[in-house]
Amino acid sequence: MKQLPADTVRLLSSSQVITSVVNVVKELVENSMDAGALSIDVKLENYGLDRIEVRDNGHGIKTADTPVMAVRHFTSKICSHEDLNHLETYGFRGEALGSICAVAEVSITTKTNEDDISTQYMLDLTGHIVSQKPSHLGQGTTVSVLKLFMNLPVRRQYYSSTKKCKDELKKVQDLLMAYAIIKPELRVTLAHNKVVVWQKTKVADHRSALVATLGPSAVASLLPCHHHHEEPEILLDGFFPKPGADYLSSSSSSQDKTFIFVNNRPVHHKDIMKLLRQHYTAQYEEEATRNRHPILMLKVTVSPSSVDVNLTPDKTQVLLHHKEALLTAVEALLVSLYGFRATTDHLLGKQ
Ligand code: ADP
Ligand code: MG
Repeated sequence: MKQLPADTVRLLSSSQVITSVVNVVKELVENSMDAGALSIDVKLENYGLDRIEVRDNGHGIKTADTPVMAVRHFTSKICSHEDLNHLETYGFRGEALGSICAVAEVSITTKTNEDDISTQYMLDLTGHIVSQKPSHLGQGTTVSVLKLFMNLPVRRQYYSSTKKCKDELKKVQDLLMAYAIIKPELRVTLAHNKVVVWQKTKVADHRSALVATLGPSAVASLLPCHHHHEEPEILLDGFFPKPGADYLSSSSSSQDKTFIFVNNRPVHHKDIMKLLRQHYTAQYEEEATRNRHPILMLKVTVSPSSVDVNLTPDKTQVLLHHKEALLTAVEALLVSLYGFRATTDHLLGKQ
């Protein structure tokens, strides 16, 4: 038996953290939001394979931190495992930048409010700085990722079909929509090959953010709703379809219009989705509705100590200590909106 060389170990674990174009965008946008950015511009070239650039107006990276900013397991967000009990940031593992460096060519330009000018840092495969030069950008951070998966030919090959590339661009847009909804004050743009494909300006509240992302007609059929579950404390806030409205997204199955957040983190929560689908699709018999989702936003707020977000490398799945209580709370919310037999007559507007 032999121990694997360090560069092989790095590539193996990095490629588990960084699995796709959308995954890179997610990590970079979350870093921008953790830095308090209110403006984020995402630019892709050749669907992100040639270039992914995320520019923000956040607090920037202190010069003293730059030598380790992209080295794996260096983070400014937590000091120990205990800190996860009151986690308020998206990041905490110090893994993203280092992992991206292992599978692409990365440069970071940053300026804090204490710096006179910005500096661009070129990084190597281990996330260490190889060179640096003065730059002209304003306060904030810009991360450029070139030639993604250059050393993982099979993964790059995955994007050889135009359909896969277009699907990926759609996923990037859906992801940015989720952050735009959960953070109304955020201004965000997405450009592909220098053409803006989607953008949202700063707005005042979740409803306006939903209008800006889903359009006024989709939001006209949504009602604001709240539910407070005690012991354990669970707060539910959201916008759900009005009784009698057409609940299902009219788009194809790839477009997920059910936005679920746990402590502001967009998540795929299988059990909540299942519960919602049972409520909303029971009335539709046809095959065509099987893969469609109800258009709604659900924001779950629980104590950070009762969530484990460290379940999967991409953090899109969360483990909740009180899953039963959460499902009971969601059910109670549905009952308060639609009455008891939510899946049948009430939803159809019949009495
Ligand atoms: P994590 O987010 O888990 O800390 P990352 O590898 O994503 O790990 O980032 C490493 C560190 O680099 C962060 O902890 C933060 O201090 C800094 N950083 C990364 N991106 C930004 C950004 N856009 N603005 C300010 N600081 C950043
Ligand atoms: Mg991060």
